[in-house]
Parts: sequence; structure tokens; C-alpha cells
Amino acid sequence: MRTYAPLPVSFTHGAGAWLWDKDGTDYLDALSGIAVCGLGHAHPALSEAIAAQARKLTHVSNLYHIDEQEALADKLTAIAGMERVFFCNSGAEANEAAIKLARLHGHARGFAAPKIVVCENSFHGRTLATLSATGNKKVQQGFEPLVEGFIRVPFNDPGAIEAAAAEHDDIAAVLVEPIQGEGGVNIPDEGYLPAIRSLCDRHDWLMMLDEVQTGMGRTGQWFAFQRHDLKPDVMNLAKGLGNGFPIGACLVGVKASDLFGPGSHGSTFGGNPLGSRVAATVIDIIESGNLVEQAEARGKAMLSGLQTALRDVAGVRDIRGRGLMIGVELDRPCAELVSAALQQEKLLINVTAGNVVRLLPPLIITREQADRIVAGVARLIKGFLQG
Ligand code: PLP
Repeated sequence: MRTYAPLPVSFTHGAGAWLWDKDGTDYLDALSGIAVCGLGHAHPALSEAIAAQARKLTHVSNLYHIDEQEALADKLTAIAGMERVFFCNSGAEANEAAIKLARLHGHARGFAAPKIVVCENSFHGRTLATLSATGNKKVQQGFEPLVEGFIRVPFNDPGAIEAAAAEHDDIAAVLVEPIQGEGGVNIPDEGYLPAIRSLCDRHDWLMMLDEVQTGMGRTGQWFAFQRHDLKPDVMNLAKGLGNGFPIGACLVGVKASDLFGPGSHGSTFGGNPLGSRVAATVIDIIESGNLVEQAEARGKAMLSGLQTALRDVAGVRDIRGRGLMIGVELDRPCAELVSAALQQEKLLINVTAGNVVRLLPPLIITREQADRIVAGVARLIKGFLQG
């Protein structure tokens, strides 16, 4: 169905940060399939792991123990410092699991209709519950009635959450992105997540982080919350976890680790041997290549490169980023820059929130490729604003 309006190009193959179209033209990928292919395209060790596991065992269902899934769970809980994990197939599904956990937690506290605090400009997915949690009217339009039980507050405003607590005595959880991706690469103040943590502790709420976009090294930490001395009760992953193989995960700390029991949630495909082997290999490759540290270093260089190249350019409102999640906010809508980048610069970029050029290059990007992206994007933006 026509759920997308694709650009007039299709890629036949890729290698690292490069993609090739049918005519053999090469493109530099500064989008990674929307924060998915952190290891770039056709990573040899990952391709080999996929082939090897496919030759051995692809799927058996969760009615049986799955060694590959248990190995992946061990790796993930170790790097996140969390207790347990539920595997699914997408970011929206991971958020669905979190929403169900919040409701279980609320019911356990005796609330008839538990509420979840969510943010303006957030994005949590396209299923009915996750689009209801999403703070974007366009995503919800036409799909009413929405799922009930969400209280919306401005992002980066702990006072607004406190005010919601004064008004509602049946809040069970807060669900928030550590950095809003689709909403425009919005980076909150340093104190925001710690403030949410202490509110959740004070009120016995679950602190639930949607790290679907920010997780897996993207922001220069394995997970964005790790900049702070805190842990969430629930953390969701997808995107970069499988590098293009569809897999999602909902991790929990002690407070939420016994809310689900046999029969209360499930997934046919979630955590199957193939998906689990792929994700475990992704983690191994990120670890052995020091790619989290590399994302931090490359991101810093790209950010300062953009700041230098676009300094004093009228129409550039803000240049911000963390690790390899970078946004250049303009003072006007600029969606056409996506096809201009493709045609003029042979670059894959994105525009989100209408006026924010978003860069999400793969973690494996070389210094030279990063410089090339910065130069190309700066040229495009200057041409757009000044032409
Ligand atoms: N949560 C966040 C923060 C996202 O950025 C996205 C996708 O962009 C989702 C959830 C939904 O993920 P999926 O498309 O895998 O369902």
C-alpha cells in the first residue's frame, strides 16, 4: 500500500557506508536506514553469522529454550546493567511491551485505569497504543479513537511531570526518549533524566526509556541513559540492535522484572535463533571495534565541522547532536533537501520535524567519509538558504 512516497532511486548493494544504485552510481549513507545499520552495509562478519545461523537453525518458537536468545539476553543485560529482556521484532512492539508493563504495575498498585506520562513531539511507533503515546497529531490523524491512559507533558520539563502527579493519583509510569529523534533531534538538559528518575522513585512509577533510536552506540554511549548515574526500570531497543534484521527488545530492571509471567505476553518470532545470533554478533562487532567510542569521536568532529562551516550562515538556527545523532535546525521548512542531497551530493540524509536536517551515519564511518558528509551537507544548506 502507499504508506511511503519513495525517492526515485533503488539500491542494489552496499559496503560499509557506501551504497550503489542500478546504474552503478555510488552514494554515501549518512542515514543508516534511519539509525539501523550502525555497522554499515554488508558487514562481512555479520553476513557470515547470518549465513552460518541460517544453515543451522532459523526458528523453533519460544515454546522451547533457545540458546542463542539466552546468550543475547546475557550480553544485553550485562551492557545495560539490567535484569531481564523480552524480545520482539520492532521498536513499536518493544514499546507495546513497555506500555503493558506499566499497566500491570499500575494494576498491582490498585489503579483501575493506570496512566502513563508521555511527551509532546515524541515518537514511539505506529501501532494503536504507540501512536496514541506519540506526541504528533499527524501520526494519530484518522486513527481515532486513540488508546486511553496517556498524559501528555512538554519535553524537557520535569515541573510539568510534577504538576501531572499533583493532578492524577493513578500514574504508573513515564515513557520518554532520552533524545527525541523524529521530533527534531531534541536534546534535553543534563538534569532531565535524573529528575525523571527521582520523580519515579518518589511516586513508585516505572521510568521507561525509549532508546529505539538512541541505543546501540548511536549517541556515543551504548545507551543514552549511561551518560548519567542512573538506570531506567524499562528500556526499549530495536533499530541498531539487528543492523537491518528486524529485532526489538524490552529490557527491565528489578522493579519490573516479575511483572510478565508465562502467558501474559509473547511473540512468535521474537528472539528466534537467527535474530538472536544476528544481534549478539552486532554487539560483538561493536565491542571489538570500539565503535561506541568511535561514534562519540566522529560525532564530535562532525558537529564541530558543521558548526565551523555553517557559522554565521543566516537561516541556520541551531546545530546540535550527541555522538552520531546530529541535527541542523533551519528557520524554514527544508524537506526538499533530502532529494537535493541525493541528486547533487550523492548523499543520503533526512529531514525531520519539517526543518531539521538529521544525520545518522553508521558507527563505522571513517574520518574521511565524515568530512565528506560535513562538506556536502554544509554546501547543500548554504545553497538552499542563500540561493
Ligand atoms: N521509538 C522511537 C524513538 C523511534 O525512533 C521509532 C522509529 O523511528 C520507533 C519507536 C518505532 O520503531 P519501529 O519502526 O521499529 O516500530
